[in-house]
Amino acid sequence: MADNCIFCKIVRGEIPAAKLYEDEELLAFRDISPAAPLHFLVIPKKHISGPAAVTAEDERLIGRMLRIGSETAKKEGIEDFRVVFNNGAQAGQTVFHIHMHILGGRDLNWPPG
Ligand code: AMP
Repeated sequence: MADNCIFCKIVRGEIPAAKLYEDEELLAFRDISPAAPLHFLVIPKKHISGPAAVTAEDERLIGRMLRIGSETAKKEGIEDFRVVFNNGAQAGQTVFHIHMHILGGRDLNWPPG
């Protein structure tokens, strides 16, 4: 856990979030500034700063993020969705606690901006 990390604060319950899924190691919650009709984030409770900081010991956890994200999208009625991980400021990462975006519910352009 990182003291000043906004997503660690959500994990600790210090900041509210619209939670869609929670277990002992993962949390899914709606993005506060949705870019699509369905837009939520899946995070590990463990603080990992971003995709490039994932270690071999995290591989199972990162795989679970994909499965739980897909199942959560389905529960929200969405079968077609985009999965995004931003790594680094130039790629658009603004929160340095790894998170998987799931976006769906509208046509999505490719390539993204
Ligand atoms: P990224 O730009 O990939 O780092 O994505 C960070 C995402 O976190 C953005 O889409 C923000 O809208 C979202 N976000 C930031 N703060 C919160 C919060 N308190 N609750 C939910 N989503 C948040």
